[in-house]
Amino acid sequence: FARLKAGVSRTSSALGENLTGVLTKRKLDEETLDELEEVLLKADLGFAMADRIRDRLSMGRHDKNITAADVRAVLAEEVAQVLEPVAKPLELDADAKPHVILVVGVNGTGKTTTIGKLAHQFVKNGKTVLLAAGDTFRAAAIDQLKIWGGRVGAEVVARDVGADPAGVAFEALERAKEAGTDVLLIDTAGRLHNKGDLMAELAKVVRVLKKFDPDAPHTVLLVLDATTGQNALSQVQTFREIAGVTNLVVTKLDGSARGGIVVAIAEKFGLPINAIGVGEGIEDFEPFDAHDYARAIAG
Ligand code: GDP
Repeated sequence: FARLKAGVSRTSSALGENLTGVLTKRKLDEETLDELEEVLLKADLGFAMADRIRDRLSMGRHDKNITAADVRAVLAEEVAQVLEPVAKPLELDADAKPHVILVVGVNGTGKTTTIGKLAHQFVKNGKTVLLAAGDTFRAAAIDQLKIWGGRVGAEVVARDVGADPAGVAFEALERAKEAGTDVLLIDTAGRLHNKGDLMAELAKVVRVLKKFDPDAPHTVLLVLDATTGQNALSQVQTFREIAGVTNLVVTKLDGSARGGIVVAIAEKFGLPINAIGVGEGIEDFEPFDAHDYARAIAG
């Protein structure tokens, strides 16, 4: 919690200061409410949340003075309410051997790192794990995945740069089926500037997996970087279209995260957020807790 709190401290302290600025010696009239709404939008919390806070505050309180602390309390409550239904751990289908997790996202968001952290958790819980280096576009991505595999004790299926990602995925699934592996994590490329190519590539990976196992992939996990702010919203939209995203992980909530965006994403898409990244290390990975998060944001 300390890391998360520090990570979103820029969001929460800016929010706190701005709220105090708006509310000092002011009546809660329309103008003040407009300004409040602006503060909430500036914190990336999204229109729906800003509207709801406005509605709640404007209900029968015009006669009273309202403080920044009051607003924070309301905010913490509303944020927790929005996050609760999406804050869920990633569940494995016990009958799936393997449970196939296709990991997608823009380059640099933390896909490979997240795969390493997830693999580590599964291994700690007694699961057998296989990794597939499906980002065949970047040599560094293949090398990184191999390093993570060595670190967590998971085998890695990899081919050379330029190989067909669908071929890698197929080989990995075949290997996992033979060995009775519990979880297969497949890394993918994230060249969003080549959206058409990426879409075709991911579609082919999915098609090839399904030939082997109609239920695969069981999870399409999108990795989002919390420092990218509003950009993360359009990434969810895009990857939902091109890859049928089912679950989310949000990384870099330890640095200079723009924490409000997580609330906007939860509200807009309602996709389960399984975990958060709070550092580069193998253990810097936490379950997503709605109440902790709400407290960290609201300050
Ligand atoms: P990919 O290109 O999506 O596979 O991204 P990588 O996994 O290679 O990560 C890109 C950079 O972000 C690396 O330097 C990682 O160490 C770093 N990174 C990943 N997750 C986190 C996180 O939760 N917190 C911080 N601070 N850095 C992270």
